[in-house]
Amino acid sequence: MNVVASFSILGDIVRNVGGDRVNVTALVGPDGDVHVYTPAPADAEKVANAKLLIINGLGLEGWLPRLLQASGSKAPIITATKGIALLKLGSDADPHAWQSVANAKIYVANIRDAVVAADPADAEFFRANAKAYLAKLDALEREVREAIAKIPQDRRKVISTHDAFGYFAAAYGVEFIAPEGVSTESEPSARDIAGIITQIKTSKIPAVFLENISDPRLIQRIAAETGAKIGGTLYSDSLTGEKGDAPTYIDMVRHNIKTLTSALAG
Ligand SMILES: [Zn+2]
Repeated sequence: MNVVASFSILGDIVRNVGGDRVNVTALVGPDGDVHVYTPAPADAEKVANAKLLIINGLGLEGWLPRLLQASGSKAPIITATKGIALLKLGSDADPHAWQSVANAKIYVANIRDAVVAADPADAEFFRANAKAYLAKLDALEREVREAIAKIPQDRRKVISTHDAFGYFAAAYGVEFIAPEGVSTESEPSARDIAGIITQIKTSKIPAVFLENISDPRLIQRIAAETGAKIGGTLYSDSLTGEKGDAPTYIDMVRHNIKTLTSALAG
């Protein structure tokens, strides 16, 4: 069964549930930026050949309606975030729900139900895979909580490039501040950047972080002007390729907590 997922993180979750009974394609691949993606003609063909299309929703895939129209696809579209508690930043929905592992478990349940409905003959196989993967996510969530607990309370404040960690912040109690909003689409203004620089100095924020999908220069400049150290790279909206630090969702979360704790614990 051909399943198309909109971006790499969803693709990995679908693979864990679908196993070898599904052929998963992620439209926005490793290190790609799903906010500003421009679909290629080949993507319309992938969507046209899919039995199921799995998306994040919450405004993440603004390029999807045109792609769907170009593909002529009639495949069911499954929104993996269905049922999560929505966070907002101002009037914008925050689409980065996967940054809370509890939400990723909701993604798994939605994806499981979708593949079971599309291929009922393999229902037992999909349910068993989902159950095993959910158990891994339970363990991962405990790891995150234990890692954050080791960071002194007054050091749980960081800067990232765009507002991708709102759900992580709400779930685990680390404060994230970002010069860019919930989408990478808009450039921060000089005033936004000046505000962040003041905030780093007054709140004594210990570290700033790069993101794999964003240009590092803005964060490098902020670090240089404030003396905050660059704590490393966080994976926000995209996995890496096989040889990178975060080829799967679980690897991504582990990498992020390791990067945060090593920059903030000391
Ligand atoms: Zn994002």
